[in-house]
Amino acid sequence: MAGTGVADSPVARVLVGLDAIRPWQEELYRSLHQHPELPHQEVATAAAAADALRTAGYEVRDRIGSTGLVGVLRNGDGPTVLMRADMDALPIKEETGLPYASTAHGTDAAGNAVPIAHACGHDVHVTSLVGAARLLAEARDAWRGTFVALFQPAEETATGATEMVEAGLTDLVPKPDVALAQHVLAYASGTVGTHAGPFLSTAASMRITVHGRGSHGSMPQRSVDPIVLASMIVVRLQAIVAREVAPGEFAVITVGHLAAGTKSNIIPDHATIELNIRAYSDATRSLLIDAIERVVKGECAASGSPRDPEFELYDTYPLTSNDPDTTARVAAAFEEQFGERAFSAPSQSASEDFSTIADAFGVPYTYWGIGGSDPDEWHRADAAGTLATDIPANHSPRFAPVIQPTLTTGTTAIVVAALAWLAQ
Ligand code: ZN
Ligand code: ZN
Repeated sequence: MAGTGVADSPVARVLVGLDAIRPWQEELYRSLHQHPELPHQEVATAAAAADALRTAGYEVRDRIGSTGLVGVLRNGDGPTVLMRADMDALPIKEETGLPYASTAHGTDAAGNAVPIAHACGHDVHVTSLVGAARLLAEARDAWRGTFVALFQPAEETATGATEMVEAGLTDLVPKPDVALAQHVLAYASGTVGTHAGPFLSTAASMRITVHGRGSHGSMPQRSVDPIVLASMIVVRLQAIVAREVAPGEFAVITVGHLAAGTKSNIIPDHATIELNIRAYSDATRSLLIDAIERVVKGECAASGSPRDPEFELYDTYPLTSNDPDTTARVAAAFEEQFGERAFSAPSQSASEDFSTIADAFGVPYTYWGIGGSDPDEWHRADAAGTLATDIPANHSPRFAPVIQPTLTTGTTAIVVAALAWLAQ
């Protein structure tokens, strides 16, 4: 179809450089993969991104918060599009057996020595965004407006987006008309999935301390047993999702940690419960938190607990709810570019802090998924019905996207989505 209108389209004129940057992009990917960095420590990753952006002609602001970074490319009058990539890796030992597997170690925020790996694929996000940023810079006559490439620290601890906003992000870059982000997921590589409305759950963890009265194990009448109290709470919490949340509404309460006592014949004086909640709406999230507090206080009263329980919320993630109009625009552009490889993705129960950035600007956003799994392996597993268990997904020590067509797809998706605004 060479010589048709499609070949001259703005998208084609930007993507014409894709083959030429491929070796550079793949080398950058392998290097980032081998040198992963923990949340708020993404110094070398941010430097590599800053380098690529400066070379391409972007105005760069770095160290926004800890390692946050933005590159701005002003290209005449027109809309402003912000695209975000997260940079951090996980405290996991990589077990992919790849020749470019990470053997890195580091020190986490608590001072522990930990192995580090890009088991969530954020190296794909960084590499795709610097690639797309470079292609857009090399084909400035194909579009008009402003492109903002944003590299965020510490997605995995839900602290990086907030940190950039608190460091004055909204004053440092032009206000975007739309904010975009993507994540590599365990779909077949080469595919792109969009979803209008709630796509990723809002999440929070809660640490609860309940108080009893300690005693010798032979004299329970002198105690208020916090182990019995905590056990009642754990059982009673199960009724919240079952009896208070409407059937069909997504909600999870998982108690992942329960601790009390030291020895079989000592009744301790307190117990701690740590739980995680997930929901697809802020209303359901509030319902869960209120119900948990009510149940805990009620059980403490029932046990005759001598002190009020303590509640601490941490690792709180906002809801990622994709704007319908923005998503429709991106989905239509993906369908034109990717054909059958563009699909409508189901909601994921995982969580993200990207919406904090879009909300800080008060602009609509959409967040899409790109496939990272070997397409042959994926189709075999799909046909055998073993998809969920056999293909390593994000946060598995065996998760590593195939380099291609993952990088090309991630780069193309950014260009196509951005040009849905910038080529109008
Ligand atoms: Zn992750
Ligand atoms: Zn991730």
